Amino acid sequence: MAIYNLGSINLDHLYRVDHFVRPGETLASTDFQTLLGGKGANQSIALGRAGARVHHIGAISRNDDWVLNEMRASGVDTDRVAQLDGASGHAIIQLDRQAENAIILYPGANHRLTREQIESSLADAGPDDWLLMQHETNGLADAIELARQKGLSIAFNPAPMVAEAARPLIRDVDLLIVNEVEAMDLTGTRDIKAAESALTRDYPQLRILLTLGREGVVYIGPEGREQQLAFQVDAVDTTAAGDTFIGYCLAALAEGLPPLEAMASGGAAAALCVTRLGAAQSIPRRDEVDAFLQ
Ligand code: ATP
Repeated sequence: MAIYNLGSINLDHLYRVDHFVRPGETLASTDFQTLLGGKGANQSIALGRAGARVHHIGAISRNDDWVLNEMRASGVDTDRVAQLDGASGHAIIQLDRQAENAIILYPGANHRLTREQIESSLADAGPDDWLLMQHETNGLADAIELARQKGLSIAFNPAPMVAEAARPLIRDVDLLIVNEVEAMDLTGTRDIKAAESALTRDYPQLRILLTLGREGVVYIGPEGREQQLAFQVDAVDTTAAGDTFIGYCLAALAEGLPPLEAMASGGAAAALCVTRLGAAQSIPRRDEVDAFLQ
């Protein structure tokens, strides 16, 4: 069993500034760092650290080999990441003194995947395998069609949410993973109870994981409705909590664990993640998650 994750890889360029740049201003940054990011890369890293066999399908610039080395160090197979002319997807992030941010996002190579690349990436995949996708690359409809032909199970985390684009894709997936805001946007509702009812009414065939931040997560599927409360921790930074949850929970579901156990694994990993600063570097290793659950 393997998980093929069609997902973004971003370079997050973080500039610390006294205030956000104003029109016409040239502002010196007081600190600068480049970190690996993108929902796709984060979820692959979470899957890899959870111990899943994960193949990342994506694209970056020819100049960014270090990104692949970082992903491999977490157990991610990067043979299906194309290296193209032009820029990798990247974010220019200004962080001010109040920890507010202002971001320019350039999708770059993340939007230049081809059907041929996706087809050859899935050449060895079969009915025991999973396809995972978010909404930060192109090629989603092609990937769903090809995965369906080969009998893969399909998990979709339509983030960032663009409801009109996500709705037609959701009809063809097996597992939908959304947070509260995404669930409400997708269903055009204003509270989470109404969103849950609309999702179960509109997509009766779907298994759904609805993540509720500090409230935990709800699963709805053929087994019924189950809720896992979040673990109580002192949160310092919730960045990548969702990606960590998805990686660990899907790794467990793909191993055949029942939803409640998978949600416990995802919830424990995400709880550890929120106690640490940062994105990919705050995703815990499997031994840390196992120790937390003891
Ligand atoms: P993000 O965008 O911050 O990465 P998200 O909005 O996609 O996250 P959430 O629903 O906020 O996803 O969180 C995902 C999971 O992480 C939750 O279901 C929960 O298990 C865990 N989690 C999030 N926040 C906390 C917290 N403060 N304490 C403990 N667990 C948390």
